[in-house]
Amino acid sequence: MADRTPYWIAGSPETSDDLVDVHNPYDGRVVGQTANATPEQVENAVAAAAAVAADAARLPAAARAAALDHVSRRLAERGDEVAALISAENGKPLMWAKAELGRAVSTFRWAAEEARRFSGELMRLDTDPAAAGRMAVVRRFPKGPVLGISPFNFPLNLVAHKVAPAIAVGAPIIVKPAPATPLSALLLGELLAETELPAGMFSVVPIPNERAAALVADPRLPVVSFTGSGPVGASIQAAVPHKHVTLELGGNAAAVVCGDYGDLDWAAQRIALFSNYQAGQSCIAVQRVIVHRDQAAAFVPKLVAAVQALKSGDPAAADTQVGPMISVAAAERVESWVAEAVAAGARVLAGGTRDGATYAPTVLSDVPADAKVACDEVFGPVLVVSTVDSDEAAFAAVNDSAFGLQAGVFTGNLQTAFTAHATLQVGGVIVGDVPSFRADQMPYGGVKGSGTGREGLRSAMDDYTDPRVLVLTGL
Ligand code: NAD
Repeated sequence: MADRTPYWIAGSPETSDDLVDVHNPYDGRVVGQTANATPEQVENAVAAAAAVAADAARLPAAARAAALDHVSRRLAERGDEVAALISAENGKPLMWAKAELGRAVSTFRWAAEEARRFSGELMRLDTDPAAAGRMAVVRRFPKGPVLGISPFNFPLNLVAHKVAPAIAVGAPIIVKPAPATPLSALLLGELLAETELPAGMFSVVPIPNERAAALVADPRLPVVSFTGSGPVGASIQAAVPHKHVTLELGGNAAAVVCGDYGDLDWAAQRIALFSNYQAGQSCIAVQRVIVHRDQAAAFVPKLVAAVQALKSGDPAAADTQVGPMISVAAAERVESWVAEAVAAGARVLAGGTRDGATYAPTVLSDVPADAKVACDEVFGPVLVVSTVDSDEAAFAAVNDSAFGLQAGVFTGNLQTAFTAHATLQVGGVIVGDVPSFRADQMPYGGVKGSGTGREGLRSAMDDYTDPRVLVLTGL
């Protein structure tokens, strides 16, 4: 049995008798143990965050940046250990765990830079004669302590996306990690505890879902930054309509192969890999590929071959590309959705089998539009191929979705790229690649059922703060 990992209450390590074992989804073995925070400890975390908020907002940029740089450096120093931990608790292949670690290193480093330049704006007001001699200084101040709720699929990086911008603006943060994957967030807590940040600036509190609602409702936490599924996000928004809630929800992201696109090998490789990375458990994994009819005969066999060439198996093996899903139940759900589509006429071009929590990389065609694998979020390694007569019809098909996170458009034509940008109802259009691309500079988030608000460091910093105007008179 692994040692019990402490959680973090107002910067201090704590534990309780309410033990939580963390399992590797691949083989079910216990890879770590922590505990649920008690209600009293959670209260202490919230009270400390509220108490430190005013001082935190005045922390010098140098102090905020130093803490962020420290976390970035320490994550890099402990990189192998952190990647192994992500892989062990989430089941994602080591290669993807290393990629996640690399992203978190850069998220904290970039946040340190943003903290240094987060300054505000000087605005002249004398464009109106009535405001002659007046000028405004606009600075952004934290709204108050942030509650960050994160999902299981990126147990380090999605926590980093909430913690780093909070520290960058001087807002205390309480993180509630996903119950299946708390260990990476707790390790991040350990690195934050090494910094000079004031007590109360951060807490990482594992608690069961039934107790999360009380935290969401707590008036001392005016900002709720949620990443997770649509139904839970909707319940949070309904519970606290007066709060500032950011919802980063799910999707059924599409990639379009346009009629003019020349490099079908590249498109096939990228779509195959990024419909199956994280075993399809990414909000921007490719779920739908929409192919111009002129390309279908050449493209679809390349795609199927690329999917069949992916290496599934033990996430701890260096060359595994596709690991298990988070649980046997999750893989069974995907299996039942595929069965439903097949019963309604879908053809299985690749995969379609399950072994425990591992679902084989799967390609389906002839899928009825109302099948769950086509219109819901499959959140598993399943790709639905459809063929259309024009690029315009492909863009309409992308938009024919309850979701709108990101879309990938394989085109070599600049005009088509601009048309896609102007017409696709999504938060981001990736030209020449899959929808699964993300960088920390980008505003990141969705429309429709994919959520509201944006992450990405600078966007999250704006999200956690309000502008406050200082008008100077007599200049
Ligand atoms: P989930 O909604 O089940 O859980 C997300 C988090 O919410 C967990 O920490 C969970 O414990 C917590 N939670 C559950 N019930 C709650 C409640 N009543 N009140 C407060 N918190 C509660 O999601 P999941 O299965 O962990 O993650 C998968 C989902 O996350 C997918 O839909 C995926 O698309 C989405 N996601 C979105 C993004 C994005 O940036 N848009 C990124 C990653 C994942």
